[in-house]
Amino acid sequence: MSKIRQVYMDNNATTRLRPEALEAMMPYMTVHFGNPSSVHHLGRAVRAKISDARDVIAAAIGADPSEVFFTSGGTEADNLAIKGHAWADRKASGSHVITSPIEHPAVLEVCKYLAKNGYELTQVPVDADAMVSPESVREAIKENTTLVSIMHANNEVGTIQPVAEITKIAKEKGITVHTDAVQTFIKTPVNVDDLGVDLLSLSSHKVNGPKGIGVLYIRKGTKMHPLAHGGHHERGLRAGTENVAGIIGFAKSVEVGLAEMEKTGAHVKKLRDELERRILAEIPHTKLNGHPEKRLPGTVNISFKCIEGEALLINMDMSGMAISTGSACSSGSLDPSHVLIAMGIPHEIIHGSLRFSFGHENVMDDVDYAMTHLPRIITNLRNISPLWDPEELRVVSLEEAQSNAKVGH
Ligand SMILES: *Cc1c(COP(=O)(O)O)cnc(C)c1O
Repeated sequence: MSKIRQVYMDNNATTRLRPEALEAMMPYMTVHFGNPSSVHHLGRAVRAKISDARDVIAAAIGADPSEVFFTSGGTEADNLAIKGHAWADRKASGSHVITSPIEHPAVLEVCKYLAKNGYELTQVPVDADAMVSPESVREAIKENTTLVSIMHANNEVGTIQPVAEITKIAKEKGITVHTDAVQTFIKTPVNVDDLGVDLLSLSSHKVNGPKGIGVLYIRKGTKMHPLAHGGHHERGLRAGTENVAGIIGFAKSVEVGLAEMEKTGAHVKKLRDELERRILAEIPHTKLNGHPEKRLPGTVNISFKCIEGEALLINMDMSGMAISTGSACSSGSLDPSHVLIAMGIPHEIIHGSLRFSFGHENVMDDVDYAMTHLPRIITNLRNISPLWDPEELRVVSLEEAQSNAKVGH
């Protein structure tokens, strides 16, 4: 029995905190415990540090620090962006929101909530690579459209959307644009002016920062209502005493991550490409999901025919590998991925899909380790599937499987 190695290949779900970030945070959970709103010296010291952190994150996305608002994470940033703008810009003729069917639940569910509460909603379709066409956004625009929300890159398959082109079309009609850039930040360049967006969501724990902290960028002049009312924190848009250590840790992870972005990007792409090449070459009846090129450098999502994804996941886990079937939010349930469904992938293939997502700590040995186990696990699982012919190594039809079962009895 070979030694079990711990291999983490689920960096789109979350990432490990950078030691530099932890080190920067520690004093703000011990010595510097002041409330940043306090006038005395303990408050002032912390306030100055938050201001520095805001500067770092603003610079990273090409924004002014006054346009950076700290939230409890990507989910709250998405909620604040969509509800906050929809409520503030409610039109007499009713308001219309445009989004896509492959958004993170933090956007998808917020849009559905609005649709249940008097807003009109259009989900523009995606193609088989999970790509939104800017022209379909143009066609969806109505007189009363108040917001377009299309994610920058998808967390399950990694496809990067043409956000700048979508924004250009929306801006011709003066429509506000939001993008969830949680997955592209510190992986590809994210610049609010290049993208042209008014609202942009970020999350710290996806970029080796602490959990429970995120940012909503709000372009100056964008109509917004707060979700949380109370004190005057975050210029009245997000009441509540700041997550001081979280903010400081987030900024440090951005500072270090940004300096290494190109190097890390090339590194994870090399690992990803090698894993992808070997799976497609060594395991028959597999299919790559997501755009072949316009994709996050460290993400690969593959469907294995005649496989139940949960069983595959558990077998990989027993061999020390942490991977995901796609959306972290749907793991633990057997609901098929809403992203793969929207891409038009047949149900029986969706159930056998795995997402590998690499980070800066992964090494080529991780890929080799995965490939010493994955082919064997796939063979074993297929051999117990009624839809697999182990002699001819092929997928059989449901009818064939049913008649084989009858003969067997
Ligand atoms: C993880 C993720 C979120 C949610 O961020 P949290 O900080 O975990 O709330 C939102 N959008 C995308 C695309 C994500 O991958």
